[in-house]
Amino acid sequence: MTNIKTNHCKLTIIGTGMAGMAAACFASQNKIDTIQIGVNSGIIYSSGFFDLMGIHPIDTQLSWNNPWQAIDQLVTDNPKHPYARLRKTEIETAMTQFLDFMKAAERPYMFNKNQNTEVITPVGTVKRTYAVPRSMWAGAVALKERHSCLIVDFVGLKAFSAKQIADMLMPRWPKIRPLRISFPSVGASSDLYPEQMARSLEVEENRIKLADAIRPHLADAKSLGLPAILGIYKPRQVRNHLEELLGIDIFEIPTIPPSVPGIRLKEALEGFLAGKGVRLIPQKRVLFAERQNNGKFALSIGDQGSNKTEQKIETDGVILAGGRFLGMGLYAGRKKIREPLFNLPVFQPEDRALWHQTDFFDPKGHQISQAGLEIDDSFRPTDLAGQPVYENLFAAGSILAHQDWMRQKCGAGLCIATAYKAVEAFKKTL
Ligand SMILES: Cc1cc2nc3c(=O)[nH]c(=O)nc-3n(C[C@H](O)[C@H](O)[C@H](O)COP(=O)(O)OP(=O)(O)OC[C@H]3O[C@@H](n4cnc5c(N)ncnc54)[C@H](O)[C@@H]3O)c2cc1C
Repeated sequence: MTNIKTNHCKLTIIGTGMAGMAAACFASQNKIDTIQIGVNSGIIYSSGFFDLMGIHPIDTQLSWNNPWQAIDQLVTDNPKHPYARLRKTEIETAMTQFLDFMKAAERPYMFNKNQNTEVITPVGTVKRTYAVPRSMWAGAVALKERHSCLIVDFVGLKAFSAKQIADMLMPRWPKIRPLRISFPSVGASSDLYPEQMARSLEVEENRIKLADAIRPHLADAKSLGLPAILGIYKPRQVRNHLEELLGIDIFEIPTIPPSVPGIRLKEALEGFLAGKGVRLIPQKRVLFAERQNNGKFALSIGDQGSNKTEQKIETDGVILAGGRFLGMGLYAGRKKIREPLFNLPVFQPEDRALWHQTDFFDPKGHQISQAGLEIDDSFRPTDLAGQPVYENLFAAGSILAHQDWMRQKCGAGLCIATAYKAVEAFKKTL
């Protein structure tokens, strides 16, 4: 018989997405003995921008300049939204602390405290977000000033077109200019991938070749926009060096997912948390969860495919940050949406026929995008009577009901703020 090891901890965070990572940061700041577990998450698909609150109401697509005013209006109109269970000061504290973690992880963000910032998307549209990676900030400045700017793309790089971006922005930004060149340093391959290009630019010699290829085309450009390929591990050094070589401000524009900024975010947070003593069990799942007589949870850990328990965790409390369908925190069956681990009730449309609108692009969005766990003010999932199912089980992030983070443009903010509150509530059980 195999001897299955049991790890003990105060808190287990299920999920390594934005919500799980934020919860782990807040737990480590509070010196809580924590194990974190999860498989791939939405983080690597992220553009790197941290949205706090951009659009409300969804059906009119009203875009807000001030995210705090947007949150005020949202919680008035939708008192069940997870933001409505937080005071504004708590959301502010959560964002400030998380942006400090990012700085400590050497991935600083730029933001205006009471204002969203307009940024360029991979397809050349403009969106409002809250916090912008340092490597993209000069793009926000250029867009605001409308100064002379060169956008460069590369032969063989799919789904990133400098011409499309310039064409989209030209009506409001006449001094934007596209350029396509060959990427000088990835051999003979005809297809280019952002991650491969980013790794190649970590080498000094390749940066010099790239600068030499761009320099003759700069003319009067005051800034230069490149796809997000400026290094994986040393983005600041890569960008600084290129700026030095070309004597111009350089900014990145995110590419379509999976994106280099998403990979950087994941690597940076994992490295930061390892240094803070959070024990990460990567690429494994919690297969079964059981509440013991002593009130603690026993979690069985293993591979999704094999369903075989490889190790166990005994934990005083759990923060469930399992995401919706992509993260597999929720499971959509033929008739019902289920929460598979704790069998928690899931708020969802009464009938499967109501999950989606008939028009995929319906401005109201789809009811399924509001499905999830209902919670009390301590972020504990509740039963049908509105009572917490377990006093030591909390939830955070996109698994929560009554929000449509993608359409409301509140993805990262929702994850960070609810993770903060879940950790604060867990602390009270200690
Ligand atoms: C394409 C795309 C673009 C995005 N762009 C932006 C953007 O521009 N701005 C922004 O603010 N945000 C953006 N986001 C990110 C978004 O903020 C978050 O990904 C989203 O809000 C969900 O995060 P989450 O942590 O709740 O869930 P997920 O990212 O889905 O993570 C869930 C985690 O739970 C784990 N899990 C689930 N069940 C188990 C189990 N039984 N055992 C162990 N682990 C489990 C999964 O493995 C995963 O690690 C984007 C995301 C995507 C997908």
